[in-house]
Amino acid sequence: MAPLNLSPLKFQTDTLMLQASIPPLFSRALFKSISTTITMSLQSTSKPIKSRLRGVVFDMDGTLTVPVIDFPAMYKAVLGEDQYLSIKSASPSGIDILHHIEQWEPSKQQKAYEVIADFERQGLDRLQVMPGAAELCGFLNSRNIRRGLITRNVKLAVDLFHERFGMSFSPALSREFRPYKPDPAPLLHICSTWEVEPHEVMMIGDSLKDDVACGKRAGAYTCLLDETGRYDSPEYANVEHKPDYKVSSLDQVHSLLESNFDLTP
Ligand SMILES: [Mg+2]
Repeated sequence: MAPLNLSPLKFQTDTLMLQASIPPLFSRALFKSISTTITMSLQSTSKPIKSRLRGVVFDMDGTLTVPVIDFPAMYKAVLGEDQYLSIKSASPSGIDILHHIEQWEPSKQQKAYEVIADFERQGLDRLQVMPGAAELCGFLNSRNIRRGLITRNVKLAVDLFHERFGMSFSPALSREFRPYKPDPAPLLHICSTWEVEPHEVMMIGDSLKDDVACGKRAGAYTCLLDETGRYDSPEYANVEHKPDYKVSSLDQVHSLLESNFDLTP
């Protein structure tokens, strides 16, 4: 049987006509119940209207670039084995190392930043563009969809990435932009620069605690890149912010956007 295909306006007219011709014995409550049933069946058979997508904001490390920083090793080097283990068990969705350091006294903090910078430098030497990233950016270009970038890495790393990648992201906000992810501020800043609403933007990243949290707090759509399926683990079942979409490679994003969003520029 063909699905009911009444536009909201047509349905409203029909409802009014039906209401006008209700016989007196036909109680209002009964009419309301029938009317609700019709509305529900219409909702379930009519196609949902696709949301408009006008911009995509990417995380950098582990999303546009292949993960090269050994984060657990970096956390251990900064925190020490014992503190690392205790913080890890208290925050199952991940450690916010920059946040922990901010509470430390200046000399200890300085040392920690040096250790982090060292790990990041090693990462830069081995920087590789994520498979599918160039194709996805080409697709977004073809649809005139804006591309932004938010990273907790330093500006130097973003500049180097731009040089090697050959495609630009604008705005590209690094750690120097405060407050950084998971605060929604950088994403809201990009939306206002683009003059679009957060619900017209998607944040794509490989971190639940930074990228998905930042995106959801800003009111944007979020897509988690989970290459290994690590977020399927039960420890992530009750996290506060869940992604709207999940992919295991950037190659899947293209069709996800086409089938779920209105990509008219
Ligand atoms: Mg990342």
